[in-house]
Amino acid sequence: EKWVYAFGGGSSEGDASMRNTLGGKGANLAEMANLGLPVPPGFTIITDVCNAYYDGGKTYPAGLDAQIDAALAGLEKVTGKSFGDPSDPLLVSVRSGARASMPGMMDTVLNLGLNDETAEGLAKLSGDRRFAYDSYRRFIQMYSDVVLGVDHSLFEEILETFKEENDYTLDTELSADDWEEIVSQYKSAAASALGYDFPSDPREQLKGAIGAVFDSWMTDRAITYRRLHDIPASWGTAVNVQAMVFGNMGETSATGVAFTRDPSTGDKGYYGEFLINAQGEDVVAGIRTPQCLTKAMREAMGDREPSMEEALPESYAELAAVFDTLERHYRDMQDIEFTVERGRLWMLQTRNGKRTANAALKIAVDMAEEGLITTDEAVLRVEPSALDQLLHPTIAPDAVRDVIATGLPASPGAACGTVVFDSDVAESKAAAGEKVILVRIETSPEDIHGMHAAQGIVTARGGMTSHAAVVARGMGRPCVSGAGMMKIDYAGKFFTAGGRRVEEGDTITIDGATGEVLAGEVKMFKPELAGDFAKLMVWADKARRMKVRTNAETPADVQTAKEFGAEGIGLCRTEHMFFDADRIAAVREMILSDDREGRVAALAKILPMQRADFESIFEIMEDRPCTIRLLDPPLHEFLPHTEDDVRDVAAATGLSATALMERARSLGETNPMLGHRGCRLGITFPEIYEMQARAIFEAQVNVEKKTGVQPVAEVMIPLVATAKELEILKARVAGVAKMVQQETGKAPVYLIGTMIELPRAALRAGEIAEAAEFFSFGTNDLTQTTFGLSRDDAGKFLGDYLDAGIFEKDPFVSIDTDGVGELVSLAAERGRKTRDTLKLGICGEHGGDPASIHFCESVGLDYVSCSPYRVPIARLAAAQAAL
Ligand code: ADP
Ligand code: MG
Ligand code: MG
Repeated sequence: EKWVYAFGGGSSEGDASMRNTLGGKGANLAEMANLGLPVPPGFTIITDVCNAYYDGGKTYPAGLDAQIDAALAGLEKVTGKSFGDPSDPLLVSVRSGARASMPGMMDTVLNLGLNDETAEGLAKLSGDRRFAYDSYRRFIQMYSDVVLGVDHSLFEEILETFKEENDYTLDTELSADDWEEIVSQYKSAAASALGYDFPSDPREQLKGAIGAVFDSWMTDRAITYRRLHDIPASWGTAVNVQAMVFGNMGETSATGVAFTRDPSTGDKGYYGEFLINAQGEDVVAGIRTPQCLTKAMREAMGDREPSMEEALPESYAELAAVFDTLERHYRDMQDIEFTVERGRLWMLQTRNGKRTANAALKIAVDMAEEGLITTDEAVLRVEPSALDQLLHPTIAPDAVRDVIATGLPASPGAACGTVVFDSDVAESKAAAGEKVILVRIETSPEDIHGMHAAQGIVTARGGMTSHAAVVARGMGRPCVSGAGMMKIDYAGKFFTAGGRRVEEGDTITIDGATGEVLAGEVKMFKPELAGDFAKLMVWADKARRMKVRTNAETPADVQTAKEFGAEGIGLCRTEHMFFDADRIAAVREMILSDDREGRVAALAKILPMQRADFESIFEIMEDRPCTIRLLDPPLHEFLPHTEDDVRDVAAATGLSATALMERARSLGETNPMLGHRGCRLGITFPEIYEMQARAIFEAQVNVEKKTGVQPVAEVMIPLVATAKELEILKARVAGVAKMVQQETGKAPVYLIGTMIELPRAALRAGEIAEAAEFFSFGTNDLTQTTFGLSRDDAGKFLGDYLDAGIFEKDPFVSIDTDGVGELVSLAAERGRKTRDTLKLGICGEHGGDPASIHFCESVGLDYVSCSPYRVPIARLAAAQAAL
């Protein structure tokens, strides 16, 4: 079995298609080498080894050692250097690399292979002792920290003390001898912390580092990250061993990270940061503030240090050419790591870059317009749920900005909350319903849960590619990074900036688009959904088969949904109209009357109000179909709660308060959700449904007269379990339609159908479809009734079910495709067998959930319906489901 794949030196054994085997980093290193780009050679130990390692109780599969030895020999051959050879030592980095990019995994170890002899050799060979010992001390610190578990603060303290004693402020002031001294102090510190000597044998070092990568797959950090991102443990990580190139070899050497387009805005133009005479993670770690990649960036940010374009123009030009090659090859925006060693460019990583929702949208649209991808591909490039971020508030242009501090605009959007300094505190306060802003000197993978819980993040250190910035963009959290003027006191729980003091619990607002931290709560705005958004939606609309409707009943919501592109109403809940202040008394009067006469009198008061509601909905929706559900909830919900309520009804009806109280008590139910509700009300009190039907049909006629546009009504009878219920009620509704026609001389245009929300209805869909002209799957209730799980109470224990792995996802959020889904598909099939024109849709929360929308496409529903703000998400998800 092949466990190890070589890359570089002209060709590779693997390529980008082998991501599952080689991990993302390894696959792309191989691919770049195949493209002829300058990649330091190396080899990848595949992800299967990780699984074998754990299956075998942390032992390696047979034959692995021999394959590593062979790969190392190959590497020595291509580089012309040898491992542990003082005359020309091979040095390597050891890098983890899972299938999906995973912060929270082992940190990379650089400069592996150094010991007293090879360090001296490197000094001679490079003619730069300072460089050699700088590399050596970095290696001891990194390896001790990452592989041997010695805390890095031990080394930082040694360095600080040394600098103080010698009156140095910057690392750059240390000479070669100084670094050599530091190295010997580091080694003895490591030895006393470990109880044994720091390993000097390069092979032993390598073995240790490889083991550390595999061990890091099961750290709490990594497990948490996988849980948050739905990454299965079975994917495993690969290990990349790669020849070192050095960005710390003086003023013509550098290291950096770059994006081929701006990951915040999506603007076309290279974007990134670099540091001269630095190595690896210096840029990301925020130790020195990095310089801008391009001149344009530097000018835009008012940064005074020269950009790479200006400081290293030749390397920059070479890099820019590589960007183009990579973008054309991968047909997506790339996130790149590079190093320049004495003027020579080396590529160390490329991957599809993480981006904000805004950038994802802009890049997808731009690339389609550039002809790099098709419009269908553009549609597939934008995560539907990310559109939510586009609806993120921004600070109102006219808002008063009381700026406390300014940093970098690391992740867009505005957020407001109370200041917290600790991720655990952020998590607990957020769990208690408080909106918090997490303020940290810098963040690390240990802060992920706090960042997740916070509305926004502020850091005092770090650049645009710092941990905080990258993670915040991925999560869609607004973030301001590198607000250097902020002095944060964790112990005292406050920060100061510009002479002001902000305590934990104080409210601040952050603007991730400008990098400002503002005092207090600031007025915010929702963004416009024009431009690129509209273009992508046009492409999505072209690609999708299913229609998208909305669940709405107030004119404001209906209008919003229409602007978001709703093609009809999938669910108009008439009871929402019953609760309005001007009519609840009449509704109570109707419910509490103990005879038909009393009810009819009360209903006569409600009729004009309900008709007016429907008129305004029809006017907004024009000729789009509107599914109107007749009264559904248990009467229980409308009963008077207070004595005042009862007095109001008594005054209106002339009945005694005592009699009304008695009647209310008799209507109370033990289990109202399975009680007197839905079509059962229509059976007992047909006059209620008849009034509603009349309101609908008269409204149609009136609107048609007024606007000349014919409204289309779909009258929906809820909670049907048997065909007979529907037959009886359909006849009633049709009778009203006929009456309205006789009275007005106009025939209302309507369908009559039902909601499928009980398992029996799903099973008997064949006969129900004899009467029903449409089905709308009410999957909230269908989930509730299929699982026998109360939606109102499940919250208390659903968490346990998710933790125990009984539910993969909350079945009320994402449809249970196996159980509830089987009922849906069976009902769809049986219903259509009876009536091939049967219209099928879904209403309820699932209609706005991308995974559930995919399911709806797979069973061939005609439309999904969701809340107004989710309409764009549903349009995009429906398109992706169809592609
Ligand atoms: P991460 O997955 O955290 O980004 P990487 O393995 O990409 O970790 O490495 C971290 C840093 O070390 C990067 O800046 C990378 O460019 C640098 N690096 C990794 N391998 C080498 C190498 N062989 N030579 C020089 N720098 C390297
Ligand atoms: Mg790292
Ligand atoms: Mg990297």
